[in-house]
Amino acid sequence: MGTKYVYLFSEGNKDMRNLLGGKGANLAEMTNAGLPVPQGFTVTTEACTRYYEDGRRIAPEISDEIFAYMAKIEAITGKKFGDKNNPLLVSVRSGSRASMPGMMDTILNLGLNDEVVEGLAAKTGNPRFAYDSYRRFIQMFSDVVMEQPKTEYEKLIDEMKDRRGIKQDTELTAGDLKELVGAFKARYKQNQGAEFPAEPRDQLIEAVRAVFRSWDNPRANTYRRMNEIPYDWGTAVNVQSMVFGNSGDTSGTGVAFTRNPATGEKALFGEYLINAQGEDVVAGIRTPSPISHLQDQMPDVYRQFVDIAQKLEDHYKDMQDMEFTIEDGQLYMLQTRNGKRTAAAALKVAVDLVDEGMIPEQEAVMRVEPKQLDSLLHPQFDAETLKKAAVIGKGLAASPGAASGQVVFTAEDAAAWHNAGKKVVLVRLETSPEDIEGMAVAQGILTARGGMTSHAAVVARGMGTCCVSGLGEMVVDYGKKQFTIGDVVKKEGDFISLDGSTGNVYGQALPTVAASISGDFNRLMKWADGLRQLQVYANADTPHDAKQGSDFGSEGIGLCRTEHMFFEPSRIRAMREMIVAKTVDERKKALAKILPFQQGDFEGLFEVMGERPVVIRYLDPPLHEFLPQKEEDIAEIAADLGMTVQALKNVIEGLHEFNPMMGHRGVRLSVSYPEIAEMQTTAVIQAALAVRKKTGYNVVPQIMIPLVGEVKEFTYVKRVVVETAGRLIAEAGSDMKYEVGTMMEIPRACLTADEIAKEADFFSFGTNDLTQMTFGFSRDDAGKFLDYYYDSKVYESDPFAHLDQKGVGKLVQMAVKLGREANPHLHLGICGEHGGDPTSVAFCHGIGLDYVSCSPFRVPIARLAAAQAAVKNPR
Ligand code: ADP
Ligand code: MG
Ligand code: MG
Repeated sequence: MGTKYVYLFSEGNKDMRNLLGGKGANLAEMTNAGLPVPQGFTVTTEACTRYYEDGRRIAPEISDEIFAYMAKIEAITGKKFGDKNNPLLVSVRSGSRASMPGMMDTILNLGLNDEVVEGLAAKTGNPRFAYDSYRRFIQMFSDVVMEQPKTEYEKLIDEMKDRRGIKQDTELTAGDLKELVGAFKARYKQNQGAEFPAEPRDQLIEAVRAVFRSWDNPRANTYRRMNEIPYDWGTAVNVQSMVFGNSGDTSGTGVAFTRNPATGEKALFGEYLINAQGEDVVAGIRTPSPISHLQDQMPDVYRQFVDIAQKLEDHYKDMQDMEFTIEDGQLYMLQTRNGKRTAAAALKVAVDLVDEGMIPEQEAVMRVEPKQLDSLLHPQFDAETLKKAAVIGKGLAASPGAASGQVVFTAEDAAAWHNAGKKVVLVRLETSPEDIEGMAVAQGILTARGGMTSHAAVVARGMGTCCVSGLGEMVVDYGKKQFTIGDVVKKEGDFISLDGSTGNVYGQALPTVAASISGDFNRLMKWADGLRQLQVYANADTPHDAKQGSDFGSEGIGLCRTEHMFFEPSRIRAMREMIVAKTVDERKKALAKILPFQQGDFEGLFEVMGERPVVIRYLDPPLHEFLPQKEEDIAEIAADLGMTVQALKNVIEGLHEFNPMMGHRGVRLSVSYPEIAEMQTTAVIQAALAVRKKTGYNVVPQIMIPLVGEVKEFTYVKRVVVETAGRLIAEAGSDMKYEVGTMMEIPRACLTADEIAKEADFFSFGTNDLTQMTFGFSRDDAGKFLDYYYDSKVYESDPFAHLDQKGVGKLVQMAVKLGREANPHLHLGICGEHGGDPTSVAFCHGIGLDYVSCSPFRVPIARLAAAQAAVKNPR
């Protein structure tokens, strides 16, 4: 027997999500738990992979199997696909392993044609319902399967409503809807050059194909890249018998969460619409009622739903996000999944579940997605300023956060303005999945329509972006590029601020204050700290950054970049004197002016960090970065340095490099000018000695030589360091220890790590440069072509954001092994951007590094990621 590509819901379970997708696996799980689920089957993700392997076609054996399962569903439901007296209608729904809300497409009411619709009308005695279902089907099929413009069909509905003088879709009569069906089919034929397919079996296979194809649509690709979902997972397709929320006033459809997805509060939370179908609730077309109203409207259904919701939460031991439909007073469950939630809600739910005895602490640590914490670590509005600021409107607090920026009205503008370095707030009537890229770059999102479960709200919460939705009084005029709330008018480019925790909108930019870790956040982080095996340091150049890192829990400084200390106006002059110096003596004089500044900076760092490690990297960038480029600056600085313009120009000319990234920088500077290393060593050692004396801390400075590719480069500079440090320590009569190590960022250093390790006390992998040098492209230039690589799936993710484990990772791993074998005392860390990226942190854990170091704001993310890695893969 060949591969089985189709499973009845009753044949699956929740652990089969790789094969059945999340939606299919959970529909199976609910079916087996005896919940009221309309029956159907799942076409597997393997069938999707096969579709792509076969050149985007569905193999005959797969379509045969689909029809065989259709027959089983006919038997289960007692209805017949395509039969006009007793028709079986189905939905065709996508569902991949990871939930990707709204990213791929769904088709409802499939199986209708001109004859079947009449049969359905007769059977139900409800022609309005039958024609409403039919027009929805044609609309979705044209859009999803044939990729015809959605707006054309919406326009036909709007024109019809105008002619009839009505506002709501629900006011359209059976006759109106029948007329619309005619207009839709005519439009279809005009666009397609063919009749709308009347044969249900053709409709079905076309729809399945469309779902497979939608796995590769641009918005799904963008979503996957943002969420690190691999392209080769594919999507499953669920074919499910329809239940109808649009069959009258005792029917409806809704979505609900077992806890509040914005705050985590333990209370059923959701919305529904009477006489509506599928996407109506989330599309934001009509504003839905809160779930609590259902208690009055249909008490029995409400009770049953509350009961099921509780059962599901107990079963999955996590907050559930559920879709349901009521058909003629009968409740059906259409989906359940672990609900997407804000970072604050994720923390509260995880900690509450522990307190409720539902899960152990370790499980709670696994429940919070590390990178989500980002939204809690950035500044919030200052409470005092908020009190004084004028509120121009109040919508729903759909996704928390503090957003300040300039108003734009389209996702494209949001992206363009963002690329031009501006901060924007995206203002829309409502959002749709096509807006995803603009939403991702906006500081915040404001919509006029849509509830807490609207597209904008769900996606914003998923991205950790601030969102205020459903601000009903706001009138958005896309044509004039402005919106009005009462008599306040805001135009494109005007500044506004959103408070995603209250729903307040302010008509100005507002200042923010730093975040702190307390309450649930703090409890969960403590649990995480108890589990992790990696240490977490911060990259910090100033006492201020060091303090920020420390407040967020860093255990050391993994990278202090000393050149940042030279750019202040009071210092850069001495630096320039040093660069234009013609003799060693002149250079030493200039360096002597820099020394006290540098020593003062280091003292500040050592005081904040106490006995925790501080790794100080010696001067790294090419010297031309410190010299002026503009004509007028050159003249001014030449005068200041007491040299002619031409002489300074000659120096600048002399420092010109074709490829500065691979030029005269890093250890190469100290090899050329050992007096630089000598001055820096003096500053480090004197600062450490001074702080020891002042505070009594046992400070042990760590000196890091950058960009080493050959052990002799390292030993050459190390000798300068050791001679200088030894002399100073002896003069002070101290027994202070210090270490000298290197930043591993040149492939050759990794290849010869055994030789270097014999001389070095530590390795710190500088994976930014190591990535550039290994791939052979620079981070600053790669932006120009990486998008082509993503589009053509050559690369799926940015190697500067997520460590390339196969290539760069292999070098790191090799260096770790060679290094440890040669020097068992060697300690190992990483200080590139990757040190704060959760998947890269997991990799560092796996290969046995001692620590990761990242920007202060990512320290909590790294702490949590390290804990999760330790739980999944203890070492
Ligand atoms: P998404 O993943 O975008 O939520 P879904 O496949 O869940 O897409 O479906 C979209 C909407 O259609 C949901 O509101 C869902 O509840 C509804 N729906 C899907 N299948 C059926 C069905 N068989 N009967 C009634 N409604 C359905
Ligand atoms: Mg859904
Ligand atoms: Mg570097």
